[in-house]
Amino acid sequence: MNPTVTKPRRKETPEDKKRRALKIIEILDRTYPTTILALNFTTPLELLIALILAAQCTDERVNQVTATLFKKNRTPQDWAGLPRSTLEAEIRSTGFFRNKAKAVQECCQELVNRFGGKVPDKLEELISLPGVGRKTANILRGNALGQPAIGVDTHVGRLAQRLELSCETNPDKIEADLNPLVPDEHKVRFCHLLQAHGRTICLARKPDCPGCPINHLCPYPAQAKLAPPRKRKRVR
Ligand code: SF4
Repeated sequence: MNPTVTKPRRKETPEDKKRRALKIIEILDRTYPTTILALNFTTPLELLIALILAAQCTDERVNQVTATLFKKNRTPQDWAGLPRSTLEAEIRSTGFFRNKAKAVQECCQELVNRFGGKVPDKLEELISLPGVGRKTANILRGNALGQPAIGVDTHVGRLAQRLELSCETNPDKIEADLNPLVPDEHKVRFCHLLQAHGRTICLARKPDCPGCPINHLCPYPAQAKLAPPRKRKRVR
């Protein structure tokens, strides 16, 4: 056989891809058995506020800031009634503090005005709130409201691309690709696992492919070897 001729890879069917996604979940579940959402919260409202504060900020920093804030403010009325300058000072270290303070207060005011002070549980209602996009709404639904939902953050998006579970760059389209591949009962866990993997092994700049427990299920190392270096478009 001519060694220069490479056998074309059989095109993966949707069923193959589902099976591969399940194997990835199985292995990552053994690799990160205790991983959970990194943001601290005890109620849907707390998670909603933590997620607004987490934009462009580390989860550790948000947890430091919310540790005291959550003790002082328990209801949407409490948050909406704070003097804006007080809230801005309290969340300053999370960055973009003016926009975040505005979003938190407008969101809480809407909860009071339109939802009787409760966090709604429908996606459409959640994304109608100021400062709440689809990613935030899905993370909230999955982690605080017990619903099967995939929130596409930077780790989930990057790994979905590298694992070729999606070839999209738009988070909404990645979510649409992942939804049929991941059974409902695994959706939330799947996100936690990709986040853990993205933080420890499949790093954005330098993934440790040789040391990766799912490298036999991932097309990225072979692609990286074959292809000349190219810029992958980052998930927003
Ligand atoms: S093989 Fe490399 S690119 Fe694929 S998941 Fe593992 S670390 Fe990431």
